[in-house]
Amino acid sequence: MNILDQFKLNGKVAFVTGGAKGIGKSIAVGYAQAGADLAIIDIDIEAAKTTAEEIAADYGVKTLAIQTDVTQAEEVESMVKKVQEHFGQIDIAVANAGIALNVPAEEMSLSEWQKVIDINLTGVFLTAQAAGKVMIEQGGGSIINTASMSGYIVNTPQPQCAYNASKAAVTQLTRSLAVEWADKNVRVNAVSPGYIGTELITEAPALEPLIKQWTAVTPQKRMGEPEELQGIYLYLASDASSYTTGSDFIIDGGYTAI
Ligand code: NAP
Repeated sequence: MNILDQFKLNGKVAFVTGGAKGIGKSIAVGYAQAGADLAIIDIDIEAAKTTAEEIAADYGVKTLAIQTDVTQAEEVESMVKKVQEHFGQIDIAVANAGIALNVPAEEMSLSEWQKVIDINLTGVFLTAQAAGKVMIEQGGGSIINTASMSGYIVNTPQPQCAYNASKAAVTQLTRSLAVEWADKNVRVNAVSPGYIGTELITEAPALEPLIKQWTAVTPQKRMGEPEELQGIYLYLASDASSYTTGSDFIIDGGYTAI
């Protein structure tokens, strides 16, 4: 197959958790541009509906918005069932919903720790598990988990030990699922972004001094744009990555190289 054709997603169905905003929305836009029908999954249903409607209008693909809290196993199972019933298949699942909490380790409550682990790690597991079951039955698929460069380095100056630990675990979970499901034609990979200028970050005046510190130690001397992640998520979703599984792609403007 022609290399450009390998990247096409026409006839494929994707869902993206945390898809209403930020990185998740950008991934969904990229998939729609490549021709996929898709479901926007988010705890914020109003934002998910708006994103789904925008994407359908802009790119002429079929979209669906479903409210789901990725920490709740029954909600995740039911969401995956709805996507499968609505579109007839699930080829691409992106477990992207995640939160960051900046609390010094010595002050962190158990509930704060648990909240980060529940969303960032258990949420990824539940999403991949539910999608994996469908993909195993259907004979294949591609699962992509959003990890972070924070799984490899310790960000400074903000204290975020639960976040860092959760993201390192996502990368190892990704490898584990990839090995378990390789013979079932279900590929599992991760993307580990560095600092990405989503609206939440760029529109928070309190973060300005931090952004200066982060970009100063980034070789490319800037944050990434959400759109600059679209290529790697498209590669991993598409037939172009048919021999890629169990890998984690760090996209960080060179941050972890130094
Ligand atoms: P974002 O703009 O906050 O978007 C995340 C979306 O996920 C929001 O719509 C959020 O809803 C939703 N969400 C939160 N908890 C959820 C839950 N329990 N179930 C379902 N949806 C939930 O974040 P982002 O910056 O795009 O980050 C997306 C992913 O990339 C995260 O996993 C993050 O850790 C990772 N990442 C981000 C960066 C970065 O610099 N931005 C760097 C590395 C990795 P609410 O807004 O209502 O909470």
